[in-house]
Amino acid sequence: MILSCRFFTNAAFLYDFKEQKMRTSKYLLSTLKENPVEAAVVSHRLMLRAGLIRQIASGIYVWLPTGMRVLQKVEKIIREELNRAGAIELFMPFVQPADLWKESGRYEKYGPELCRLKDRKKNEFVLGPTHEEVITAIARREIKSARQLPINLYQIQTKFRDEIRPRFGVMRGREFIMKDAYSFHIDHASLEKTYKDMYDAYSRIFTRLGLDFRPVEADNGSIGGSSSHEFQVLADAGEDTIVFSDKSDYAANIEMAEALAPAYDRKAPAEAYSEKETKGCHTVDEAAAALGLDAKQVLKSLIVRGEKKEDGTYDLIMLCLCGNQELNEVKAGKIAGILDPIEFATESEIAAFTGATPGSLGPVGFKGRIIIDRTADKMANFACGANHTGYHFINVNWDRDVPNYEVADLRNVEEGDPSPDGQGTLHLRKGIEVGQVFMLGTKYSESMGATVLGEDGKPINMQMGCYGIGVTRVIAAAIEQHHDDKGIIWPDSMAPFQVAIVAIKPNKSQAVREAAEKLYAELEAKGVEVLYDDRDERPGVMFADMELIGIPHVITIGDRGLAAGSVEYKSRKTGQKEEVSVDKILDFVCAKL
Ligand code: ATP
Ligand code: MG
Repeated sequence: MILSCRFFTNAAFLYDFKEQKMRTSKYLLSTLKENPVEAAVVSHRLMLRAGLIRQIASGIYVWLPTGMRVLQKVEKIIREELNRAGAIELFMPFVQPADLWKESGRYEKYGPELCRLKDRKKNEFVLGPTHEEVITAIARREIKSARQLPINLYQIQTKFRDEIRPRFGVMRGREFIMKDAYSFHIDHASLEKTYKDMYDAYSRIFTRLGLDFRPVEADNGSIGGSSSHEFQVLADAGEDTIVFSDKSDYAANIEMAEALAPAYDRKAPAEAYSEKETKGCHTVDEAAAALGLDAKQVLKSLIVRGEKKEDGTYDLIMLCLCGNQELNEVKAGKIAGILDPIEFATESEIAAFTGATPGSLGPVGFKGRIIIDRTADKMANFACGANHTGYHFINVNWDRDVPNYEVADLRNVEEGDPSPDGQGTLHLRKGIEVGQVFMLGTKYSESMGATVLGEDGKPINMQMGCYGIGVTRVIAAAIEQHHDDKGIIWPDSMAPFQVAIVAIKPNKSQAVREAAEKLYAELEAKGVEVLYDDRDERPGVMFADMELIGIPHVITIGDRGLAAGSVEYKSRKTGQKEEVSVDKILDFVCAKL
């Protein structure tokens, strides 16, 4: 088998693979009849059942031959569109010197997802979760003159992130394949142009892959920088929530979506506040039930850590929300003085500071900084914890009972909220993040000293952009969108084979064997990727496997049909069958491709 020349153990394969045809008797089909119990989502189940992947350790997978063919299809489309956008391919190491990460400051910051190791000489290394450090080290060495800019370099490479909860198969693996690109510029205007080109290239890639996707405004995460979009595939199995307006183009990750202040005014305070017993209540809902109130009338009070003090303890900051709403941790982390990513205070820190347990906290008499959400700001005569374990106050009011507080956007938006651009109403959907584009600015060029000489002979920090696609995750996302109860229904651009030939009892019938072999050879000669199922299995087993694997076009050759001069064609997408005469089938199926 002359597969493409693979020049590295990592995922850098050449994409013009020569071996288009295959017979199941000489192939590793590896399909499973039963549903694997470990798979919680459809794509994971079908990837295991169709013989695309096998887990070898938690979050670490082998790509079996059928999966590998799909991977190569995806990589080919990515390469074509990136090359078209002017990006240039290179290949960086998976194992990276820790020193580079110390220079950028991320060795400390990245946390336990970064896998750190030592070689025999005790030199420190990391397994690359991303490649900003390595590319910046190359750029500062190789790019000397502004005339070399802009330049956009990409690779398709293995990444390792020691995810706390690897799950859903390759959707959230620990080892996965990413296409990552990095662009370098003399100024921000040039970065903006490449960012737009990459955004457009991503739109073409995901369109060609047959995905129903949305680009959304996104947070920058640990990479830092100024502006970012994620490409989200709409699917219920998605771990992200995306929001979009029904009247405008506004679309954002919920992490980013602004919740506007309610349009109504706060009601006037009524009677003075008083204490009520709420023993055994730990949640807002429990307290609301005990007090005979709706959760909307109860304040949710959370305590997070602020800056670390000299004695090693933290400032504690109270965040207050309307009881039926959710804290948005990304927004909270961006507020000056709050740790980012946010850290909740421990029970003992809370007890030492307030004298109460977490279920009984509230702003009345709280000694630290209090930040309240815009909707909580409109609450009046509300209930909140009394900072006295087992008790709540009722009829509390801002200003009168809590004189010092700041107001901020702290909550997640909800279905039906007004769109922050002032046009229409927000709707929520689940999304799978398959790609993200970032404007990094000078974050890495500054910390790592990647400069070029400007016209005045002075060094200028290069502007940078970075652009990722989860190559392996894309495949799971495609299956989430394209399947039925029989198996995968590949978009044509991703299918591991275009055509399957199912031969009925070829060992018993010379006519079937000859007709199948002939068609197999003819399809190959036309450059069609064809899988010839010559296993001599029961027909039902072979059909089920071809449907499970999701081959778009299936041709069945049996004695009965041949006697009438025909074979059967079946479309995986529509399920429609057609009898086609033996001498027309080649043209018939080629016309479908
Ligand atoms: P997530 O928020 O899902 O953890 P991320 O934002 O940290 O992802 P990026 O750093 O933006 O990921 O990486 C670029 C792309 O790599 C993502 O858009 C995603 O498609 C893919 N990716 C990231 N983490 C994983 C993972 N653990 N398994 C598979 N693919 C991943
Ligand atoms: Mg991302």
